[in-house]
Amino acid sequence: MSAPAAAGPTADPAVPGDPAAVASLGAVDTHCPYCALQCGMRVRAAGVADGDAGGRTGGDGGAVAEVLERPEFPVNRGALCGKGRTAAQLLAPAARLTAPLVRDADGVLRPAGWDEALDRVADGLRRVAAAHGRDAVGVFGGGGLTNEKAYALGKFARVVLRTSQIDYNGRFCMSSAAVAHQRAFGLDRGLPFPLADVARTGCVILVGSNLADTMPPALRYLTELRENGGTLIVVDPRRTRTAEQADLHLQPRPGTDLALALGLLHLVVAEGRVDQEFVARRTSGWRETLPGVMAHWPELVERITGVPVPRLREAVALFCDAPASMVLTARGPEQQAKGTDTVSAWINLCLATGRSGRPLSGYGCLTGQGNGQGGREHGQKADQLPGYRKLDDPAARAHVAAVWGVDPDDLPGPGRSAYELLDALGRDVRGLLLMGSNPVVSAPRAAHVAARIEALDFLAVCDVVLSETAALADVVLPVTQWAEETGTTTNLEGRVLLRRRAVDPPPGVRSDLQVLAELARRLGVARGFPADPEEVFAELRRASAGGPADYSGISYGRIAAEDGVFWPCAGPDSPGTPRLFLDRYATPDGRARFTPVQHRPSAEEPSPEYPYYLTTGRVLAQYQSGAQTRRVPELNAAEPGPFVQLHPRLAVRLGVAEGEPVEVTSRRGRAVAPARISPSIRPDTVFMPFHWPGEGRANTLTNPALDPASRMPEFKVCAVRLRRAAPTV
Ligand code: SF4
Repeated sequence: MSAPAAAGPTADPAVPGDPAAVASLGAVDTHCPYCALQCGMRVRAAGVADGDAGGRTGGDGGAVAEVLERPEFPVNRGALCGKGRTAAQLLAPAARLTAPLVRDADGVLRPAGWDEALDRVADGLRRVAAAHGRDAVGVFGGGGLTNEKAYALGKFARVVLRTSQIDYNGRFCMSSAAVAHQRAFGLDRGLPFPLADVARTGCVILVGSNLADTMPPALRYLTELRENGGTLIVVDPRRTRTAEQADLHLQPRPGTDLALALGLLHLVVAEGRVDQEFVARRTSGWRETLPGVMAHWPELVERITGVPVPRLREAVALFCDAPASMVLTARGPEQQAKGTDTVSAWINLCLATGRSGRPLSGYGCLTGQGNGQGGREHGQKADQLPGYRKLDDPAARAHVAAVWGVDPDDLPGPGRSAYELLDALGRDVRGLLLMGSNPVVSAPRAAHVAARIEALDFLAVCDVVLSETAALADVVLPVTQWAEETGTTTNLEGRVLLRRRAVDPPPGVRSDLQVLAELARRLGVARGFPADPEEVFAELRRASAGGPADYSGISYGRIAAEDGVFWPCAGPDSPGTPRLFLDRYATPDGRARFTPVQHRPSAEEPSPEYPYYLTTGRVLAQYQSGAQTRRVPELNAAEPGPFVQLHPRLAVRLGVAEGEPVEVTSRRGRAVAPARISPSIRPDTVFMPFHWPGEGRANTLTNPALDPASRMPEFKVCAVRLRRAAPTV
C-alpha cells in the first residue's frame, strides 16, 4: 500500500470569517445546535438586508432566521447536514414554548407568569428537601448544554441545593470511552488530535460509528483518507452507508467487539508486529495484559464474533503495514455493559503497535452530543468538579470551593449515575430539576423511567419545547436556545468554540442561566449566579485552572479571533493543545497504561425465549430523542417514524413484508414498528432507531445493565423475540 500523501486538509487552518464581510451579510457566525461536530454556520435573521446588523424575531410564527454556509470554519468547511441546514426553523415561536407552564390542581398544564412559575419551582424543591433531606432533590442535565450552563448547573446543585444527586444524559453517550481514556492516558479528551489528521493517516479502524448518518460533513475526512492512499476498516454489525465506503467491513455479532479487538491484538503478537521499542519506552502494564490477549486465539474469536480469521488477518495487515494508523470508536463499542473494557481493548491495540503518542496515529472517541465534550468537563457529572476535577479529591474540593466562596466541607460528595438517579426517582429522590434532556425517550428501560418520573413529588423542566418529559412536569420553564444566546461549546476535538447570539429570543423565554440565577436567589443564594455567559465563563476559567481540562487561557475574545482554542490552555500565553500525548501522557509517570481485559458475554444473550439481538442507534434526519428534529417538517418527511430493520431471511421466517408491523419484545417491554427489510444487517440482529416516543419507542426494550466503571447502560445489545403484529386499522 502506498504511503498516504501529505496533501489533504491542513491541521489547524483556523482562519475566522472576515467580521466586516460577515456583518455585511447581516449574519452572525455561530455553530449548529446539534451534534459534537459543532459545524460552523452563519445565521441571518429574517428580513435583515445585506449590510444590516443585529437580528429580530418573527412575531407571526413565520421564519425567524436562515442558516448560511460558513466555509472558513476548519472542521466542516461549509458543509452542513440536513439537521443543521434546517435548525433555524426551531427558532420560530410556533415551533416552541414561549410562556412558562404550571400544573393546576386539576392536573392540567396552563400558561403562567415567570414569577409564579419560578416561585413554584423554588417552593417545590424547598419542600422536598425539608421533608426528605437535601439528597432527595436531584438535578439532571444534558450533553447539549453550553459549558457555561453545565458549570452553573453543577454549582447550583452543590452550592444552592447542596445535593449530591446530579448527573446528566451524557452518561448515556461517551462515558465508557471517557473512563477508558482516563485509565490509559490519564486524561479524557475525545480526539487527542484535530479531525483533519484523520485524512492524513494511513489506516483508520472505525468501530461502531455510522458517520454518514450521524455526522455527514465528517465523512469527507474518511473520503480524503482513501484519496490520499490510506485505508478504512469499519467494524459494525450493519452494513451502513459508512461501512459501504470501507476497504474492509468487519460485521461482528453485537456485543463482541471486545473479543474482536483482542483477536486482532493476538495476531499482532503472533505475527511479531508489536512495537517493542514504543511499548518499553512509553507504556506500562504490557506484561500483565499479554496473557488475556493470548487467550483469544483467532479461531476462538471467529466463533465469538462471526468474523472469519482471514478477515482478521487482513485487518491486522492493513493496520500495521500503514505508516501511521488510528482507531476511532463511537457508541457501538461504548454503549455496552462492558463498554469501558471494550474501548480499553482497542486502546491496547494502538499502544502495542505504537499507534499512539505520535503524529497522525492514536486512539480517539467520536463524541456524539453537541457539547458532549465540554458537558463532561465542568461539573454536571455525579463525581466531578469543574476542570474535570474529581469530587472526592481534597485538593480539587479546596480549589473549587475557594472559587465559589464556600467551605470545602460544605460540598456534597459523589452521587448516583444517570440511570441509577432516574431509577431512584419517586423513592430516594423525590424532587427533580431537569435541564436539556428528554429521558422518557432517551433513557434505557424507558417505560420504567417514565413511571419513576411520574412518581416524583415534584418535577421542574427547562426546555425549548414541550418534550415528552416536560409534559410530565409540574412546572415547565421555556428557555432560549443556540442562536438566541451566547455561550461556548467544546467539540469532539477538544476545540472550544463560541456560539454567538444571532437573533433575539421571542418575548416570554429566558435563558437557563437566568433561570438558575432567579432560583438561587429564591433559595437564599443571592450572589454567585450571574446570568451573563461571559461572566460565567470567566469564573469557569478560574475554577478549571490547574485542572485536567484547563480553560484558564481561553477567552471569548480569543476564541473569536482564532475560531476555536484547544484545551488544555493554561494561561493567555499558551497556544492551546491541538495534539496531546506527543511527548508524554497525562499519567503520573508519563506512560500510557495497558489495561488487562477479557471478553465476556453481553448482559443478555439470545435464548430460546428471546432468540435475536436488538441493537439501537440513529438515522440521518433525526437527532437523539427527536424533541427538536421531530418538529422540523423536512426532517420528519425524510424520516417520519420508527422502524425495525431486519434481514430478508428473517423477514421470510417471520412472514413479514416491507412496511408491515413487527412486534419486538424484550424482558422490559414491547414495541411495534414497521418492517424495513435490508440485506445490510445480520440475519440474527434487528436494528431500531431511538428517536421516537409511543408504541415504536426503541428504549422501551433496551437493557439498563450498567458498565461497572462508567455506569453506561447497554443500549447497543439486548435479546428480543419478534413476530408479525396485527396491522393497525
Ligand atoms: Fe449540525 Fe452535526 Fe449536522 Fe454538523 S453534522 S450540521 S453539527 S447535526
